[in-house]
Amino acid sequence: MNSGFSRRHFLRSAGSLLLLARLGSTVKTFAQGERVLILGAGIAGISAARTLADKGYSVTVLEARGVAGGRIRTDTSLGAPVDLGASFIHGTKGNPLVALASRFGAATYDIEQEEDLYVNAAGGAVSTAVINQAQREYNAALKRLVAIQDGLGQDRSIGSVSSALIKGIRQRRGAAIGDMVNFLVRSEIGIEFGADLNQMSLKYFDEDEAFSGSDLLVKPGYISLIDGLAQGIDIRFNQLVRGISWSSSGVRVTTDSGVFDADRVVITLPLGVLKRGDIEFSPGLPTAKANAIAKLRMGVLDKTYFKFPTAFWQTREDSIGFIGNVGARSSTQIPEYYTLDQAVGVPILFGFTAGAQARRFEQLDLSTISATSMASFRKIFGSSVPEPEAVVQTRWGSDPYSYGSYSYISVGAKTEYYDTLARPIDNRVFFAGEATHRSYPGTVHGAYLSGIREANRVVKSFS
Ligand SMILES: Cc1cc2nc3c(=O)[nH]c(=O)nc-3n(C[C@H](O)[C@H](O)[C@H](O)COP(=O)(O)OP(=O)(O)OC[C@H]3O[C@@H](n4cnc5c(N)ncnc54)[C@H](O)[C@@H]3O)c2cc1C
Repeated sequence: MNSGFSRRHFLRSAGSLLLLARLGSTVKTFAQGERVLILGAGIAGISAARTLADKGYSVTVLEARGVAGGRIRTDTSLGAPVDLGASFIHGTKGNPLVALASRFGAATYDIEQEEDLYVNAAGGAVSTAVINQAQREYNAALKRLVAIQDGLGQDRSIGSVSSALIKGIRQRRGAAIGDMVNFLVRSEIGIEFGADLNQMSLKYFDEDEAFSGSDLLVKPGYISLIDGLAQGIDIRFNQLVRGISWSSSGVRVTTDSGVFDADRVVITLPLGVLKRGDIEFSPGLPTAKANAIAKLRMGVLDKTYFKFPTAFWQTREDSIGFIGNVGARSSTQIPEYYTLDQAVGVPILFGFTAGAQARRFEQLDLSTISATSMASFRKIFGSSVPEPEAVVQTRWGSDPYSYGSYSYISVGAKTEYYDTLARPIDNRVFFAGEATHRSYPGTVHGAYLSGIREANRVVKSFS
């Protein structure tokens, strides 16, 4: 994600041979010459494939799911396209996705033209005076975090510092402003990174970069960018990669239904999948890369979509934030909602949960989550608020092809680990994906650019 502080992934060993024998598969060999396998059909894999295919290389994408997109997934079951993974093009100035959306005729919607409503624990609207004062206190707290960061020897978590800062604000300015600052910290840092503040690195949390300008929704859904880029690309679906091996004569990828040989491989599998250690690398991954995989973490950001028969919120309201002890692991209150009726023309809103709370939500019954939201909406907007016609919830933390939403730097990790993850092996095995982009990790644009970066490295490796 990112928005705005300072700134804002034969040769064969005996084991692999055994796996191959067990699978009883046939070896698929592509046309001789410059053959490239790409593992994963998310935006990084598809952008790498597009770049290479346009240059005339023989490219095959292997994807575990039955569809392309990965953490870009557009759902249409609610009567309008809504994104279960990435929703926003973050920043318009210099962001290559803006041009891509335009190239594929995908209209966008600027979410920053509307207003935010903040609601306190009693169900009342937070006054503008409190919001403004809290914003000033939040900005000062961020500056304080950066000042502490500058003099920091040993890294520590953001949470270890932010909780003391919020406590101080509460004492000096009162509970209302303290609660609002607490909300801003959880929203702008916790939800932004899908992380638990007590695990996020204070030293490195603000080292990524961001494009300036508004955040845009892709009206027909983010998947339209994948569909546009993937045209004519050879994607093999339902190919769960289990083994990757390489030598001076080529690469071999073993899936649960086949074996694929090529000259180069670009691995775009999510950090969460690499962290599980279920994929056999032969020879093994370099120690530095294995260490980076172990130390960087996957945050969880989940969404819950509600479709209503009519919109009960004010049409000018873009987001509704619940302040108080929301966002805490034990709370079933979704802290932050975005309304979508203006953008998609259907009375839909969706809530964000992050970190430990999101992981707990993934274990809960949908009706529990829905009941808390409905009780809150009725407290604010009155008893006539209708029951939702449909509720859709994501579970990115337990998704077996991602195990999380996107990467973040936890205490014990460093920014340069993103570069370590990106480093090719033997000029034959290449790595792309959001967790390989040091400047723009955790974003669609970072993943997209990483795919192009590795395609260009592959081209160079052949020359
Ligand atoms: C809820 C949520 C909200 C987000 N919001 C935004 C946002 O608003 N803006 C933004 O810029 N970014 C956002 N992001 C982040 C963004 O979606 C990701 O950074 C980006 O899509 C990652 O792309 P990728 O190609 O690196 O990885 P992926 O899209 O995960 O692609 C990797 C592919 O590998 C496949 N795969 C996994 N394991 C295997 C295997 N063993 N064998 C074969 N294939 C396998 C996966 O199925 C997947 O298709 C959000 C993410 C989530 C989850």
